[in-house]
This record gives sequence, structure tokens and C-alpha cells, in this order.
Amino acid sequence: MLRSAGRRSGGGAGGRNERVPGSLDGVSPLLQKTLIAAAAVVAFAVVVGVVFGARPTSPRVVDSDRLRAAVTTEAVTAHLQALQAIADAHNGNRAAGTTGYAASMDYVQAQLEQAGYQTRRQQFSYDRPDFTRATLQRTMPTRTDYVVMRDHRPLAQSGAGSVTAPVTAIDLNLGRDRSSTSGCEASDFTGFPRGNIALVQRGTCQFEAKVDHAVAAGASGVVVLNQGDDPSRRGLFAGTLGSEATVPVVATTFDLGAEWAAAPGTTLTLAVEATVTRVTTENLLADTPSGADQRTVVVGAHLDGVVEGPGINDNASGVGAVLETAVRFSELGIQPHNRVRFAFWGGEEDGLHGSAHYVAQLDDAGRRGTARYLNLDMVGSPNPVASVYGDGEPDSEWPAGSGEIQTVLTDFLTSQGVTPQTVSFRASDHASFLAAEIPVGGLFTGADDGADPCYHQACDRLETIDRDMLGLMADAAAHATLTFAQAPG
Ligand SMILES: [Zn+2]
Repeated sequence: MLRSAGRRSGGGAGGRNERVPGSLDGVSPLLQKTLIAAAAVVAFAVVVGVVFGARPTSPRVVDSDRLRAAVTTEAVTAHLQALQAIADAHNGNRAAGTTGYAASMDYVQAQLEQAGYQTRRQQFSYDRPDFTRATLQRTMPTRTDYVVMRDHRPLAQSGAGSVTAPVTAIDLNLGRDRSSTSGCEASDFTGFPRGNIALVQRGTCQFEAKVDHAVAAGASGVVVLNQGDDPSRRGLFAGTLGSEATVPVVATTFDLGAEWAAAPGTTLTLAVEATVTRVTTENLLADTPSGADQRTVVVGAHLDGVVEGPGINDNASGVGAVLETAVRFSELGIQPHNRVRFAFWGGEEDGLHGSAHYVAQLDDAGRRGTARYLNLDMVGSPNPVASVYGDGEPDSEWPAGSGEIQTVLTDFLTSQGVTPQTVSFRASDHASFLAAEIPVGGLFTGADDGADPCYHQACDRLETIDRDMLGLMADAAAHATLTFAQAPG
């Protein structure tokens, strides 16, 4: 199968081989045979690895003690305190396009420049649908008008439109434990009457997955009732979809959802209107002055928060960990083998816009030169579930190399006495890198299922942060950043 084989077969997998014609000319027949045999052995080993799902080889383990000792929980927390103060001084939030976000950018930029980095702002714009009107009315069996922001509210990225249709409950668990996988499987929609409004229950999988399954089954709208398994998960909640839905999607309380599910023939009118606001905002980038740029390691976290609150767990926690790693990297004079790019994304909460813009701006060399992307989003949850990105599948769909990041993070956390879970969601800034076939990994400590009852709310403040977990996650990020910065290439 050696390259010569490739040549004869006229391309395919051996493409790169095609570009170096005749390199075996003048080599003794005996040596040629030896080389062919050696290559066959290597190929066989690779096949075995793929078939038996061998653990991806992890890069050389580096000694990250000094760096981790320098990345203290106190220093990381100080960044969260600064971003909390910024939100408090700017209408309680740091959302994209607001003065709170602009002040957050200034803060992070000043920290990086103080540490000796040259920074670069990357401006971009996008259209954000702002919900101007959302109405919810029950027309059958009796007429009731519900109050927006008390009884219902659109999910961020809801589609616009107005529908009136009967409600069909999807695999609800209104019983005692109220554990819910409602809408998480396409099979939950078997027999779903096309055109009806799907009533799904919060829990287990992302809102986006539930909505995707509902739309695929022909739902004209989706109502997501709160899970009800905990007092903090009964009332109205704020949620976001990873990308814009094609139908109206609204959240409601557990009690209202349960009431509709119990009343046969319930018919609702859902109307969501949105005006489009043109948002112009920025990413902030800072590169190590040395290291091979054709093997760049990008380490990023989104800097914007939702408009509802200061966004401290989501995502000042990730920003604090990435920023402090960058500062100490420079302070310790670490000379990376591979360039490290520290990235702070804007517009994530509105649809992953900053990271999508960054990836879209990369030319071919820039894509090929991006060896890995490490994402931190929500790493200080009050009821934390230490998690590492990965799709956990032996025949992973994720780009080759993603498994290595998963292994390095998992091994590190395990060495610290914490066995992480694996999460495979795409509702964060690694999604665009994944789509560009760039190996990705990341850290997460939970949003749903009680991990962070203040997720996307005004109470997402410094007081609710689990500082021990934040410190551990910052250590994991520092360790992985150093590991891949020094990975041979
Ligand atoms: Zn986030």
C-alpha cells in the first residue's frame, strides 16, 4: 500500500504521495523490500488501533507543576470578581453589544498587555433576533391568556411565527422523581400528529436536541416545560438553542405544562415576533511570541454573557482560567514548541458568532496550522459535574486528535482524584472548529440537571461559584495547554 501502490491506483488516500514522484528511484531492491515491509507493519498497527478502538496515544506527559502552582484559584477568582464588578456597573450584564461587554474586553486586554502580550481585536457583526412580542393563549378546552416573562418566554434562538394547534405531550414524567429524557430520542415522536405543538419536558439532553426531533416529526411549535424535579426547576426559566429554530419555541413552568398535559384537547396559540438588531462586537486574541505557527494551539472561552445576569459561571469562569493561564505562561517565560493563541470570543450566547467568525476567517494555511482547539465554558458550577468533551464513540466522528485532548484532560483530572464524565454537546465555541475538522476538546462542570440552578439568570454571580472546582479546572486547562504547546510536531 505504499505510495507506489497509491500511484498505480491513481490517487485516493495516497494523495500526498502523488506530490513527491519517484522518490524511491535508485534505492536497492533489498532496501525497497524492507521499506515496504516496514510500512505494511505500520499500516496494520493503525488498522488494529481503529478496529479495537485503541486509546489514542497521548502526547508526551509534561511537568506542569510550576505553571499550575502559578495559576492559583485566588488569581483566577480575582478575574471573576473584576467581571462581576463590571456587570454590576453596567446594568447587571456583560451581553454582546453592551457597555458591560466593552468593559470586559478592556479588562482582559489590559491584563494580557500587562503580561507582555500583543493583543488583537477581531471585529464582526451579526443579526440578533430580539423578541418584541411573545404571546401564549390557551384556546381549548377553555380560553386563557398567559403573561409573558411570568408564564412563558421564548428560548433564545426561537424561530418567529404564530401557530395555533393542539398540544401533544412527549414522553413526560410528571410522577415522583420527574427524571426526564423527554424528546431526547427521535422515537419519542413516533405517531406524532404533524402540525401539532410538541410539549416536551426539560432534562438530560440539550433543548436543541428536543427541538430538532420535534421539528423533524412535523411540530409547528415547541413548548418546553421546566423539569419540576427540584424547587429551583419548577418556575419559568431562560434557555438557549445552539442555532436558530425554524418554529416558535417557548419555555413555561412545570405546573402550567403539567396542567396542559392533563387536559385532553388542549389547544394553544403560540406567537413569537422578533425584530432584528444588528450587533457589532469583537473577539480578543493574544499569541505567545514564540512557537511554531503551523501547529497553533488555540485555547478559548467566550467573554460575553446573557442579558439576564452577570454571567459569572457562564462564562467568566472559563475566561478567568484561560486568562490566568496566559498571564502565568508569559510570567514564567515558557518557550512553547507550538504557538499558543489565547482567544476570548464575543457573541457566543447569541449563537456562537465570535468563534464562527474566527474560523470562517481562517484561510487554508490557517486551518491546517490550527493543531487543536481547547474550549472552556462554565467551569465553576455550584453543584459541579467535572466533564471533559468527547463523543466517547470508538469510531469517533470528531476529528482525529480530539481523543488525545480528551485523554490528557481525563488523565490529569483522574490523577487529581476526580473521574470526569464525557460530554458531547456542540452548543459552545468548539462547534465551529469541529465543523472545520479541527481537533477539539474542552472542560465543563454542568448547566442543566441542577448543576447550576442560576444558569442564564441574574443569580449567576460570584457567590454561587464552586471555587475548588474552578481551581481544579484552571489547573487542568493549564496542564493541557502546556502539554499541547510542547507536543512534538
Ligand atoms: Zn457559555
